[in-house]
Amino acid sequence: ASGYTLLRDPKFNKGLAFSEKERDAHYLRGLLPPAVITQELQEKKLMHNIRQYQLPLQKYMAVMDLAARNDRLFYKLLIDNVEELLPIVYTPTVGEACQKYGCIFKHPQGLYISLKEKGKILEVLKNWPERTIQVIVVTDGERILGLGDLGCQGMGIPVGKLALYTALGGVRPSACLPITIDVGTNNEQLLKDEFYIGLRQKRATGQEYDELLEEFMSAVKKNYGEKVVIQFEDFANHNAFKLLSKYTASHLVFNDDIQGTASVVLAGVVAALKLIGGSLAEHTFLFLGAGEAGTGIAELIALEMSKQTKAPLEETRKKIWLVDSKGLIVSSRKNSLQELKKPWAHEHEPIGDLLSAVKSIKPTVLIGSSGVGKAFTKEIIEAMASFNERPLIMALSNPTLQSECTAEEAYTWSKGRAIFASGSPFDSVEYEGKTFVPGQVGDVTFVEANNAYIFPGFGFGLVISGAIRVHNEMLLAASEALAGQVTQENYEKGMIYPPFSNIRKISAHIAANVAAKAYELGVATHLPRPGNLVKYAESCMYSPVYRSYR
Ligand code: NAP
Ligand code: MN
Repeated sequence: ASGYTLLRDPKFNKGLAFSEKERDAHYLRGLLPPAVITQELQEKKLMHNIRQYQLPLQKYMAVMDLAARNDRLFYKLLIDNVEELLPIVYTPTVGEACQKYGCIFKHPQGLYISLKEKGKILEVLKNWPERTIQVIVVTDGERILGLGDLGCQGMGIPVGKLALYTALGGVRPSACLPITIDVGTNNEQLLKDEFYIGLRQKRATGQEYDELLEEFMSAVKKNYGEKVVIQFEDFANHNAFKLLSKYTASHLVFNDDIQGTASVVLAGVVAALKLIGGSLAEHTFLFLGAGEAGTGIAELIALEMSKQTKAPLEETRKKIWLVDSKGLIVSSRKNSLQELKKPWAHEHEPIGDLLSAVKSIKPTVLIGSSGVGKAFTKEIIEAMASFNERPLIMALSNPTLQSECTAEEAYTWSKGRAIFASGSPFDSVEYEGKTFVPGQVGDVTFVEANNAYIFPGFGFGLVISGAIRVHNEMLLAASEALAGQVTQENYEKGMIYPPFSNIRKISAHIAANVAAKAYELGVATHLPRPGNLVKYAESCMYSPVYRSYR
């Protein structure tokens, strides 16, 4: 290839870091100014530039421009500055980017498959320049973060998630494929927006929707085989559950909003038991919120209990209670309940409000997955602290205003005895001269990216083992590995998740444990099984350091 082409291919471009020899060998003479600099200096310069921007969206655009110019430098920046750049490449900034995607759109970063491509999806996949794909993240844009229906502009999400797959998990960037399925949008504002980039129509539903998704799923399998991970992301609740159950038996599918969330929360619970004591099955759980997040987490906890005690799932589920907008879910409500709530309808008199439910059930763990800010009142936290030495309180709802309570409230109302974790960031709290670090379902520096603890390592585990199906036990394996990364030192600060700065190491351990489970279950195809899976995972991880071209 000519030097000019080399400079314009983000896969190979090194900018001023091309050495004298490379400049001679690849016809680059004169196309670059004379200075030769290192990747480290390039990184320093770019971080300096990015920090000059005031607005997060400007930073996002600068970082995405870099991604379009130079893969390796982009990933080097992301890996070395993960805590600073994650809120830019991922939530919350990516949400704003999606809202304004039509306006800031410069170059396509993934595949767009709309109703116009019906009947031709296989051909569309063949238009993508890379042949070997290991991970696809796909959205239909209907429930982007907490922002709702952003239609085709949801593309920012698969792009951002896959950047994390590479930076945090180690999947090669060229093996990642972001896809947005455009079946229209019900967002009136976007439909009226002259810069909107998607189909200008109301969402297709029912058969029309199902057929497009079915064609997509079979085209993916036909084109990339059985070993490609398909991560469903930010689909609306009804479609998310439907797609997951429809394709679990035939494809390698994973829903991060349901399964990733459940796995990260279970890890926090398992880690917290080290502080509270008792085995999982000795605890009683009460959830506020019985939607996608709540029921998904509840099910995974019940599964882990069942695995540990050998008791049937029907029994372990009885240790877990859920409250929805109509009160405690009990058997007398069974006939009017949605399918996903039915397994949780236990024998109990009807109870309308959370405080009464807490007093009656006496849970040891209280989990908020309702999206209702301030729902964990002083009375509720005090009740939890009255019958628990160390109540575990997890307020998972995002963003901060939606959090069921704040860290400060949990610590002060429980007189410093609660173990607290949240979905939204809270600063450490001083209480009676002691410092409490809120257990973060995620990390203080970013909001809804908390699942970033699990999904990159989980997906990488599928990739390195050549898994062809996801089983729930693999999610349990991921939780176990994450909980196993919390050190004594972390526990002493009340932390139930390991520091995010170690994420590559964490991901390698998660990947290894997930892969081990895949081999054990007979769904791994990369044979023979490597002896030391942690070492193997680490050795397979993508490194963003420049290669020299001979
Ligand atoms: P969802 O499917 O809409 O479920 C919300 C649930 O909350 C429903 O069961 C709903 O009851 C219940 N609810 C709503 N208002 C209530 C009230 N006033 N009292 C009692 N229950 C009420 O939403 P989701 O996807 O599960 O998400 C829920 C929250 O979890 C969101 O705020 C999201 O940010 C958070 N989340 C956090 C993480 C994390 O990792 N930190 C991950 C995913 C989600 P009905 O069923 O009766 O309508
Ligand atoms: Mn999501």
